[in-house]
Amino acid sequence: MSVLVTGGGGYIGSHMVWHLTDAGEEVVVLDDFSSGFEWAVAPEARIVNGDCGDQALVARLIAEQGIEAIVHFAGSLLVGESVAKPLAYYLNNTVKSRSLIETAVTSGVKHFVFSSTAAVYGTPESFPVSEDAPLRPESPYGRSKLMTEMMLADASAAHGLRYAALRYFNVAGADPRGRTGESTRDSTHLVKIACETALGKRPGMAIFGDDYPTPDGTCIRDYIHVADLAAAHGDALRHLRAGGDSIIANCGYGRGFSVREVIDTVKRVSGRDFPVSVGPRRPGDPSAIVASPALIMDRLGWRPKYDNLDGIVESALRWEEALSRRNHL
Ligand code: UDP
Repeated sequence: MSVLVTGGGGYIGSHMVWHLTDAGEEVVVLDDFSSGFEWAVAPEARIVNGDCGDQALVARLIAEQGIEAIVHFAGSLLVGESVAKPLAYYLNNTVKSRSLIETAVTSGVKHFVFSSTAAVYGTPESFPVSEDAPLRPESPYGRSKLMTEMMLADASAAHGLRYAALRYFNVAGADPRGRTGESTRDSTHLVKIACETALGKRPGMAIFGDDYPTPDGTCIRDYIHVADLAAAHGDALRHLRAGGDSIIANCGYGRGFSVREVIDTVKRVSGRDFPVSVGPRRPGDPSAIVASPALIMDRLGWRPKYDNLDGIVESALRWEEALSRRNHL
């Protein structure tokens, strides 16, 4: 029996593949490598270069590889890009997920773990955000993910598929053993940008707005270590395999850091100062968003091991250094 990981060459997907292979699971990675990397995939996993919306391919893999669970990461993930190219996002995130869910149902796969996002909440009214908060996504990206959650709920009611939809807050950091990390070129993520700047890959960076209604005026986010996030997927899979009900759960630590606090941490941990300017607000950024992790802790027994901003930054810096060495080869 094996697990199909779509998008297993990507940032979070590649950590999940290591998490599974470390636990002795058989893993098949399906990725079109449009943004992921084959070298990021654990060597024990089987790699298939293809499209998760290709129903004939997925049905064949399920039959030939004895796949009993699907962990679905493949998709597009930039909020700003989704505003400019909404139909591409609805194709990649919604239409292809529909095809994949249908193939799971027709091929008899019973367990499905889906990579969702805190963007389904839009700008929350209160903190911390629990799963029953109003769902008001503010971008095609958030809507494309919420539509997939809705399809999963309906397919689960009609066809008996059981699923976990995990709503990620701000994912950061890299594999504590240094085997993979965020390798995307032109990332827009704060921790990665600050680490790149600390290492001189960028001449400086900007804070997008310091006039928010927060203590230091910059936006507050709940940064979760990618290794704890991968473990949450492992816990979800265990829950479903044990016969547990479908679940929708936030993935975050329940505490927030401001943009300035993150940048100061990167400066302190790296021991390097770098130029930081204050620019205008980035459209669509909520002032603060922090998860309530109560549900995932209660229902899945998830216990974070890396809830520490210094540790997150340390691992991200180490990965940035490894990437520099790799790219110079
Ligand atoms: N941010 C920033 N400068 C950057 C990148 C990000 O000030 O170069 C801010 C961004 O406006 C947001 C926070 O950092 O308030 C986290 O942004 P990121 O893109 O990492 O994640 P998001 O919260 O948008 O998913």
